[in-house]
Amino acid sequence: MAESPFKFCSDCGNGEWITRSDREFVCAACGFRHFITPIPAAVALLIDEQDRVLIIRRAHEPGFGLLGLPGGVIEPEESGEMAAARETHEEVGIELPASAFTYLCTLNNRYLFQGYIWPTLDLCYIARVPDFNDVVMQESEVSEFLICPLDEVPLEEFAFESNAEAVRRWRTGRPAA
Ligand SMILES: [Zn+2]
Repeated sequence: MAESPFKFCSDCGNGEWITRSDREFVCAACGFRHFITPIPAAVALLIDEQDRVLIIRRAHEPGFGLLGLPGGVIEPEESGEMAAARETHEEVGIELPASAFTYLCTLNNRYLFQGYIWPTLDLCYIARVPDFNDVVMQESEVSEFLICPLDEVPLEEFAFESNAEAVRRWRTGRPAA
Protein backbone atom coordinates (compact mmCIF):
# COMPACT_ATOMS: atom_id res chain seq x y z
CA MET A 1 0.00 0.00 0.00
CA ALA A 2 1.11 3.50 -0.75
CA GLU A 3 2.26 5.91 1.88
CA SER A 4 0.30 9.10 2.40
CA PRO A 5 1.95 12.11 0.72
CA PHE A 6 0.37 14.25 3.42
CA LYS A 7 2.14 14.74 6.75
CA PHE A 8 -0.86 16.02 8.62
CA CYS A 9 -4.62 15.99 8.26
CA SER A 10 -5.67 19.23 6.55
CA ASP A 11 -8.78 19.35 8.73
CA CYS A 12 -7.56 18.57 12.28
CA GLY A 13 -3.75 18.46 12.08
CA ASN A 14 -3.39 14.86 13.24
CA GLY A 15 -0.56 12.87 11.68
CA GLU A 16 -1.88 9.31 11.68
CA TRP A 17 -3.39 7.78 8.59
CA ILE A 18 -5.58 4.86 7.75
CA THR A 19 -4.54 3.85 4.23
CA ARG A 20 -7.67 2.70 2.37
CA SER A 21 -6.02 2.35 -1.03
CA ASP A 22 -3.17 3.89 -2.97
CA ARG A 23 -5.36 6.95 -3.49
CA GLU A 24 -7.35 7.28 -0.28
CA PHE A 25 -5.89 8.28 3.09
CA VAL A 26 -8.23 8.72 6.03
CA CYS A 27 -7.31 10.72 9.14
CA ALA A 28 -7.23 8.30 12.08
CA ALA A 29 -8.40 11.05 14.46
CA CYS A 30 -11.29 12.76 12.65
CA GLY A 31 -12.08 10.59 9.64
CA PHE A 32 -11.42 13.32 7.05
CA ARG A 33 -10.79 11.60 3.72
CA HIS A 34 -7.85 12.77 1.59
CA PHE A 35 -7.81 11.58 -2.00
CA ILE A 36 -5.07 11.50 -4.59
CA THR A 37 -6.56 12.50 -7.93
CA PRO A 38 -4.77 13.24 -11.20
CA ILE A 39 -3.59 16.83 -11.55
CA PRO A 40 -4.53 18.26 -14.95
CA ALA A 41 -1.66 19.61 -17.00
CA ALA A 42 -1.43 21.00 -20.54
CA VAL A 43 1.18 19.94 -23.09
CA ALA A 44 1.81 21.80 -26.35
CA LEU A 45 2.97 20.25 -29.61
CA LEU A 46 4.07 23.22 -31.69
CA ILE A 47 4.45 22.34 -35.36
CA ASP A 48 5.82 24.59 -38.09
CA GLU A 49 4.98 24.64 -41.80
CA GLN A 50 7.70 22.10 -42.52
CA ASP A 51 6.13 19.67 -40.03
CA ARG A 52 8.90 20.18 -37.50
CA VAL A 53 8.20 20.11 -33.78
CA LEU A 54 9.62 22.38 -31.09
CA ILE A 55 11.37 20.35 -28.37
CA ILE A 56 12.75 21.84 -25.17
CA ARG A 57 15.55 20.68 -22.89
CA ARG A 58 14.43 20.89 -19.28
CA ALA A 59 16.36 23.28 -17.02
CA HIS A 60 14.96 21.91 -13.75
CA GLU A 61 13.91 18.72 -12.00
CA PRO A 62 12.19 16.42 -12.54
CA GLY A 63 13.88 15.37 -15.74
CA PHE A 64 16.67 17.97 -15.58
CA GLY A 65 18.65 17.91 -18.85
CA LEU A 66 16.14 15.64 -20.58
CA LEU A 67 13.82 16.60 -23.39
CA GLY A 68 10.15 17.46 -23.40
CA LEU A 69 7.40 19.63 -24.76
CA PRO A 70 6.29 23.01 -23.41
CA GLY A 71 3.59 22.60 -20.79
CA GLY A 72 2.61 22.71 -17.15
CA VAL A 73 -0.11 22.45 -14.55
CA ILE A 74 -3.47 24.00 -15.44
CA GLU A 75 -4.36 26.90 -13.15
CA PRO A 76 -7.78 27.62 -11.61
CA GLU A 77 -10.25 29.18 -14.11
CA GLU A 78 -8.13 28.10 -17.09
CA SER A 79 -9.19 25.77 -19.85
CA GLY A 80 -6.64 23.29 -21.18
CA GLU A 81 -6.24 25.45 -24.29
CA MET A 82 -5.63 28.57 -22.19
CA ALA A 83 -3.00 26.75 -20.13
CA ALA A 84 -1.28 25.45 -23.28
CA ALA A 85 -1.17 29.01 -24.66
CA ARG A 86 0.13 30.46 -21.39
CA GLU A 87 2.82 27.81 -20.90
CA THR A 88 3.93 28.16 -24.53
CA HIS A 89 4.31 31.89 -24.05
CA GLU A 90 6.09 31.53 -20.70
CA GLU A 91 8.53 28.81 -21.74
CA VAL A 92 9.37 29.57 -25.36
CA GLY A 93 8.00 33.09 -25.92
CA ILE A 94 5.59 32.24 -28.73
CA GLU A 95 2.37 34.21 -28.37
CA LEU A 96 -0.73 32.39 -29.59
CA PRO A 97 -4.40 32.67 -28.62
CA ALA A 98 -5.99 29.73 -26.81
CA SER A 99 -8.06 29.14 -29.96
CA ALA A 100 -4.85 28.21 -31.84
CA PHE A 101 -4.62 24.99 -29.78
CA THR A 102 -6.44 21.90 -31.02
CA TYR A 103 -7.07 18.96 -28.72
CA LEU A 104 -5.08 15.81 -29.50
CA CYS A 105 -5.46 13.38 -26.57
CA THR A 106 -5.03 12.95 -22.83
CA LEU A 107 -2.20 10.85 -21.40
CA ASN A 108 -1.35 9.83 -17.85
CA ASN A 109 1.93 10.94 -16.37
CA ARG A 110 3.78 10.84 -13.04
CA TYR A 111 5.52 13.90 -11.69
CA LEU A 112 7.95 13.97 -8.76
CA PHE A 113 7.24 17.09 -6.71
CA GLN A 114 8.09 17.81 -3.07
CA GLY A 115 9.08 14.23 -2.46
CA TYR A 116 5.96 12.56 -3.79
CA ILE A 117 5.21 11.15 -7.22
CA TRP A 118 1.92 12.81 -8.18
CA PRO A 119 -0.29 11.46 -10.93
CA THR A 120 -1.04 14.01 -13.62
CA LEU A 121 -3.35 13.91 -16.60
CA ASP A 122 -1.66 15.58 -19.53
CA LEU A 123 -4.06 17.26 -21.97
CA CYS A 124 -2.14 17.40 -25.23
CA TYR A 125 -2.75 20.10 -27.84
CA ILE A 126 -1.41 20.88 -31.30
CA ALA A 127 -0.72 24.40 -32.51
CA ARG A 128 0.49 25.26 -35.97
CA VAL A 129 2.97 28.10 -36.34
CA PRO A 130 4.55 29.45 -39.54
CA ASP A 131 8.09 29.09 -38.13
CA PHE A 132 10.09 29.17 -34.90
CA ASN A 133 11.90 32.46 -35.59
CA ASP A 134 10.40 34.15 -32.53
CA VAL A 135 11.36 31.53 -29.96
CA VAL A 136 12.64 33.10 -26.74
CA MET A 137 13.60 30.62 -24.05
CA GLN A 138 12.65 31.12 -20.43
CA GLU A 139 16.02 30.18 -18.98
CA SER A 140 14.71 29.04 -15.60
CA GLU A 141 12.63 26.40 -17.39
CA VAL A 142 14.40 25.67 -20.66
CA SER A 143 18.14 25.30 -21.32
CA GLU A 144 17.96 24.66 -25.05
CA PHE A 145 15.46 24.10 -27.78
CA LEU A 146 15.54 21.74 -30.73
CA ILE A 147 13.57 21.97 -33.94
CA CYS A 148 13.07 18.40 -35.12
CA PRO A 149 11.39 16.87 -38.14
CA LEU A 150 8.60 14.73 -36.69
CA ASP A 151 10.31 11.48 -37.67
CA GLU A 152 13.61 12.48 -36.05
CA VAL A 153 12.44 13.47 -32.58
CA PRO A 154 14.77 11.68 -30.08
CA LEU A 155 11.91 10.21 -28.05
CA GLU A 156 14.27 8.06 -25.92
CA GLU A 157 15.72 11.27 -24.45
CA PHE A 158 12.36 12.50 -23.18
CA ALA A 159 11.81 13.04 -19.47
CA PHE A 160 8.19 11.86 -19.65
CA GLU A 161 6.72 9.00 -21.60
CA SER A 162 3.47 10.99 -21.95
CA ASN A 163 5.29 13.68 -23.95
CA ALA A 164 6.95 11.09 -26.18
CA GLU A 165 3.61 9.36 -26.70
CA ALA A 166 1.97 12.66 -27.70
CA VAL A 167 4.57 13.02 -30.46
CA ARG A 168 3.96 9.42 -31.56
CA ARG A 169 0.17 9.92 -31.62
CA TRP A 170 0.48 13.01 -33.75
CA ARG A 171 3.01 11.32 -36.03
CA THR A 172 0.87 8.25 -36.69
CA GLY A 173 -2.44 10.08 -36.85
CA ARG A 174 -1.49 13.07 -38.95
CA PRO A 175 -2.97 13.36 -42.42
CA ALA A 176 -0.65 12.44 -45.28
CA ALA A 177 1.29 15.40 -46.65
ZN1 LIG B 1 -8.19 14.82 10.90
